[in-house]
Amino acid sequence: MVAEIISVGTELLLGNIVNTNAQYISKEMARMGIDLYYQTVVGDNEERLTGVLRTALERSDLIIMTGGLGPTKDDLTKEVVASFFGKALVFDEKTCQHVKKRLESYGIAEMTESQKKQALVPEGSLVIPNPVGMAPGIILAQGEKAVVMLPGPPKEMKALLEECSRLFINRLSEHVFVSIHIKCKGPDELPIKEIGEAPVADILGEILDSENPTVATYAKEDGVLIRVTASGKTREEALVLMKPVVTKIAELLAGKIAWVKEDNE
Ligand code: ATP
Repeated sequence: MVAEIISVGTELLLGNIVNTNAQYISKEMARMGIDLYYQTVVGDNEERLTGVLRTALERSDLIIMTGGLGPTKDDLTKEVVASFFGKALVFDEKTCQHVKKRLESYGIAEMTESQKKQALVPEGSLVIPNPVGMAPGIILAQGEKAVVMLPGPPKEMKALLEECSRLFINRLSEHVFVSIHIKCKGPDELPIKEIGEAPVADILGEILDSENPTVATYAKEDGVLIRVTASGKTREEALVLMKPVVTKIAELLAGKIAWVKEDNE
């Protein structure tokens, strides 16, 4: 089970906004134990979006798309996904009522044609009402593959990802990942020849080849960060696998460690 993120929006490519959605979704996938190997950013362009979707579906099983679900002409996500799978866009009455209610709460009685477009969804998809906005989350499952479409605004994306996870994504995961971060002291506290990434890697030696847990080092300005990640059927199982490796690292780097944290701390 491999997931992939497609972030849609020319604003992202122009550097006008930061892709915090991809960061958030990546963390959520890791937390749920779902492998994620690729993230792509693509502009609001039908041809390029179709190409990126095709590539993603060739190498991943669950595609999570954000952005491009709004009512304007450059919002193309559901149109592209529907056309890719040969599905029509059909009118979803529940979504229409939801949009209507939200507009009424802003004092708007009439829906424009563009606003009605928000109620169109690919036929056969699961539609999840947006608790904090108008565009719903949409899940279109096709055989072994599924595409989850979420709106771009981070608050809406987060609320709908949570709901999609509860209803659908959670069930796809067979294991959970747990990470422990071990932060080495920095150049303020110890000479760089002792705590740079290379000396730390030399000290850790074969531990860095371990497969479950995996151990990786990251050079940070204030000292090397070591990430130990284990996968297990449960969090407890992952922690049991992790413990001897973390203990060994602590022994090898005695006196050189600033702090140790579990991923959710
Ligand atoms: P809307 O109905 O608001 O148009 P949408 O699903 O069409 O939603 P976009 O138009 O693509 O989404 O983006 C709306 C806003 O959401 C952007 O202006 C930006 O503020 C935010 N946004 C979009 N994508 C991202 C992202 N990947 N990371 C962070 N913020 C994002």
